[in-house]
Amino acid sequence: MRICRFNGGKIGVVVNNHVFDVTSLITDLQTQHWPCAPGDPLIAALPSLRPKFEEVIGECDSMPLSDCELLSPVATPSKIIGAPVNYHLHRDEANVDAQINNGTKIETIETYGLFLKANTSLIGPSQAIVLPDGNRRIDHEIELVVVIGNECKNVSRIEALDVIAGYAIGNDVTIRGPEDRSLRKSVDTFTVVGPWLVTADEIGNPRDLHMILSVNGQMKQQANTRDLICDVQQLIVYASAHYTLYPGDLIFTGTPAGVGPIQRGDVIHQQIEGIGEFISNVV
Ligand code: MN
Repeated sequence: MRICRFNGGKIGVVVNNHVFDVTSLITDLQTQHWPCAPGDPLIAALPSLRPKFEEVIGECDSMPLSDCELLSPVATPSKIIGAPVNYHLHRDEANVDAQINNGTKIETIETYGLFLKANTSLIGPSQAIVLPDGNRRIDHEIELVVVIGNECKNVSRIEALDVIAGYAIGNDVTIRGPEDRSLRKSVDTFTVVGPWLVTADEIGNPRDLHMILSVNGQMKQQANTRDLICDVQQLIVYASAHYTLYPGDLIFTGTPAGVGPIQRGDVIHQQIEGIGEFISNVV
């Protein structure tokens, strides 16, 4: 099932380029009591909501997808986790940059661990990526995004796929430079997630998903998740050994080779097999 958030916070099920409005089924979730539990209440309730969505979809109002303003399918993740260098070819290109700039060698997750992006940087496809003033290089990074479905800790490799609610496409927009990743990747609008959440059952093992990113019609990144250094299961094992994961937590699994600078006016098209596609504007 493809579940989207659209037009200011409605919830929709996407079927054949139409969005079926199932918002009336989630009104209970909209009256939260302080202090709120960590995580996203919609993602936490998905297992019980899903059969209800299926039941009512024939009677819901629907509209063409092209008329909908899509938001991030997850509204309030407790955290956004990133994998720093997780494709061999991207490590090679990062190495070239690093050796030119400061002579250091780029390692992988075993050395660097994971990082967190600020939740306030999260946007959806209908919202523009807003570049800050100045002349720093800012890059696009297409990534498969895992949406966690259950509260979990110390997950084993065998259990790892069972804690996933679904998948989405992400752009981990990044200022290049020496500052900590948590600063360079957390600027407002620098975490794009869309176009919707595809439930995990539609993907199965996320080991063979083709992805492409183009800027203004020019192909920039093209890869397959089979080339991940640390696969999705390993990322969940590693992340959950350190953090308790909550429903709606997002894991950006790392970007392949081909990252490059973006500028105001650019149109970024992103697509991942089995999930879908969307366009982001840069302003
Ligand atoms: Mn990244």
